[in-house]
Amino acid sequence: METRSMHRDTVGRVGEQVTVKGWVNTRRDMGKLAFLDMRDRSGLLQVVLVPAELSERANELMPSIRSEYCLAITGIVQARGPKQVNPNLETGTVELLAKDIELLNPAKTPPFELADTSGINEESRLTYRYLDLRSPRMVKNLELRGAVAGFMRDYLRKEGFLEIETPNLTKGTPEGSREFLVPSRLHEGNFYVLPQSPQQFKQLLMVAGLEKYFQIARCFRDEDQRGDRQPEFTQLDMEMSFVTREDVMALVERLMVELVKTVTPEKHLTFTQIPRISYADAMNQYGNDKPDMRKDKNDPSEVAFCWVVDFPMFENDGEGGIQAVHHPFTSPHPEDVALLDTEPTKARANAYDLVMNGYEIWGGSIRIHARDLQQKVFQLLGLKDEQIQARFGHLLEAFEYGAPPHGGIAAGFDRIVMILANEPNIREVIAFPKTGDARDLLMGAPSDIEQKRLDEAHISIKKK
Ligand code: ASP
Repeated sequence: METRSMHRDTVGRVGEQVTVKGWVNTRRDMGKLAFLDMRDRSGLLQVVLVPAELSERANELMPSIRSEYCLAITGIVQARGPKQVNPNLETGTVELLAKDIELLNPAKTPPFELADTSGINEESRLTYRYLDLRSPRMVKNLELRGAVAGFMRDYLRKEGFLEIETPNLTKGTPEGSREFLVPSRLHEGNFYVLPQSPQQFKQLLMVAGLEKYFQIARCFRDEDQRGDRQPEFTQLDMEMSFVTREDVMALVERLMVELVKTVTPEKHLTFTQIPRISYADAMNQYGNDKPDMRKDKNDPSEVAFCWVVDFPMFENDGEGGIQAVHHPFTSPHPEDVALLDTEPTKARANAYDLVMNGYEIWGGSIRIHARDLQQKVFQLLGLKDEQIQARFGHLLEAFEYGAPPHGGIAAGFDRIVMILANEPNIREVIAFPKTGDARDLLMGAPSDIEQKRLDEAHISIKKK
């Protein structure tokens, strides 16, 4: 067989012999003839099977060919007659008259129709995710996801940001969630935790003098899966030195407006100048801190951003103490620093959230970069000095080596793609998501582990 042509490229090759490779999307029989709609990454192509035109092996194969068979087909590209042109198909002006067919792999009958999986129950879709991902909607979603990632990378690189990876095996950093634990085989009784975000590392990169960092980072949070959450999800994470909150907000604003215009040109923005509302006003006027500012909530192409600023630093933790609303590395609003000594719960944070169609999609803050202030905030949060030293001694010490003023922000990457794709949940824009109760149905995770591996990890399981 000759080199492979993509379906999309057959359009300009009328009269030529080509070989295409892909899957049978549908088969239609018309007396002695059969039509195959073949599918590859580039789209669909109609193939005509005429027994008199086919090689011997193709004739033998022809009766058995069914949906999802993987085939290589060599034939002649021919123009369709004016009445046969299909305007709904990118390759609708041509078809392939098959000469030879090579069976690359037969297929069992899929457990569900792949053309439109929106009505199929999710357990089946996730168990056979590799089939579910063959549907045009899922391909489109993954293409959009790739385009969003590519756009953000290019944009930030042009702005002088450096892409830096940070560890996934690390030590806890508080972002308000429970952390996944990873037992250490080499250090008996010790554990790594998976990061809830790269928060401390990105701040340490600022201490190191890297000035502008970003990463498309995987984050892990071991929570009861309320609503549309995943135990692992993706953030577009960034941090900058020598910036004010205005600088961070202006950058994100430009990035998001350009993103929407570039990757989803069919969308329209309600505001090009993004409105700003204080946390207090948002709660008073809308009763929540992520107001949906769209003019017409039924319009799938409307995108409305708004900033929410001036969150409180602290909130009650329900157990008589206080906890950080954003995270404990957030600096107080410059006007409220003195309140930390008098009425800390009145202090506002120097934090900002960007809301998109009623979803909080970016959240960040200007950070504390002075050791004493950071220590004070930990103390206000009820940590004892030994605890502070054990958990954050490295960060406090780093601040003593000329840590620059810095701030940053992170985006819920899956959510941005979900909104741009008009999907109802983030599972639709993640290649291999977990179920609502955190199971991976395809791989069968989590699963039990053989005794030998548990022994190596110094783990014994408590039987109930
Ligand atoms: N690390 C924070 C988060 O995950 C974001 C930030 O402050 O940059 O919410």
